[in-house]
Amino acid sequence: MKIAILSQKESLYSTRRLKEASEERGHTVKVIDYLRCYMNITAHNPKIIYQGEPLEDFDAIIPRIGASQTFYGTAVVRQFEVMEVFVANSSQAIARSRDKLRCLQILTRQGIGLPVTGFAHSTKDIEGLIDTVGGAPLVIKLLEGTQGIGVVLAETRSAAKSVIEAFRGLDANILVQEFIKEAGGADLRCFVVGEKVIASMQRQGAPGEFRSNIHRGGSASAIKLTPEERSTAVRAAKAMGLQVAGVDLLRSNHGPVIMEVNSSPGLEGIEAATGVDVAGKIVAFIEKNAAPGNKRDRVQY
Ligand code: ADP
Repeated sequence: MKIAILSQKESLYSTRRLKEASEERGHTVKVIDYLRCYMNITAHNPKIIYQGEPLEDFDAIIPRIGASQTFYGTAVVRQFEVMEVFVANSSQAIARSRDKLRCLQILTRQGIGLPVTGFAHSTKDIEGLIDTVGGAPLVIKLLEGTQGIGVVLAETRSAAKSVIEAFRGLDANILVQEFIKEAGGADLRCFVVGEKVIASMQRQGAPGEFRSNIHRGGSASAIKLTPEERSTAVRAAKAMGLQVAGVDLLRSNHGPVIMEVNSSPGLEGIEAATGVDVAGKIVAFIEKNAAPGNKRDRVQY
C-alpha cells in the first residue's frame, strides 16, 4: 500500500515509529507536513498539492494533527476523504474530540461513565454551577487545554469562585467537574485500535500532584484493565467515531469514568511502558480496513 502520514515533523517519535512500522510491513510511506499542503476544491478533480506536486494514489492516510492546528489539519484530512482515500481517523471525529465539552456530551448520550460535569457561560451563575457538581473540592478545566495545563483543583468554594471568575474574565471557556479523589492522582491510558484496546498503561502523578500527565512529572507503567474498563474505552472511542484513540479513564468509586478521548495519542510513552508494537498494530488495522467506502462517519453530533 501507499500510506501518507500527516505530521508536522518526521522526527517526532510517533511519526517515526509509524513510518518504520509501515516500511517493515512492506508499504511505501511518505510523511507530509499538512500545513504545507494546499488544496484545489473542485467538483470533478479535487486535489491536494504538496511541494508543487499533486498527492495522488494514496491508499491510506494516518493523520497526526497537532492540537493547535485542528482547523487546517482537519481541512486537509477532509480533502483526502473527498478524494475517497481511507483515513485512519476522520476529520469530523478529530474535530469533535478536540472539544472536551462536545466529547462529554456525546459520551453521555451513550451512557458511558463520566465525572459529574457543569458548564456555564456567565459568571452570574457561579454558585449554581458549583452546586451542580456537589460543591468543593472540584476541578476546573479550560475547554481546549492539553497536557494538564489549564486543569486546576479548587479545594474550597471560595477558591473555586475566584478561579472561575479569573478564567471567565479572560473570556476562556471552562467546565467544572466533580473531583475524583479516590483516583489518587492516577489515570489509565487505553490505546484503542479498531474495536480493541491494544495496550494500556497507568500514569501516576508526581507526589502531591493530582494530575497524572507525563508532561507534569507523572510516570507510566503497564497495567491490566478490568473487562469493564476495556469495554468502556472501546465504547468511548466508538462513540466519538475514532478508530485510533487514546482513551483516558479514572478509577472512581462508581466505576471507570472518562477524562478524554484523544485522536492523536502519542506512541512513545505507551510503547515504552508496555513493550507493545503499537505502531505495527495501527498499520495492521489499516491493512485490514483500507477498502474504498469504508470510511463513513456515523456519529451525528
Ligand atoms: P489534559 O487534556 O490537559 O490532559 P485532563 O482533563 O485529561 O486534561 O486532566 C489532566 C489530568 O488531571 C488527568 O489525567 C487526571 O489525572 C487529572 N484530573 C482531571 N480531571 C480530574 C477529576 N475530575 N478528578 C480527578 N482528577 C482529575
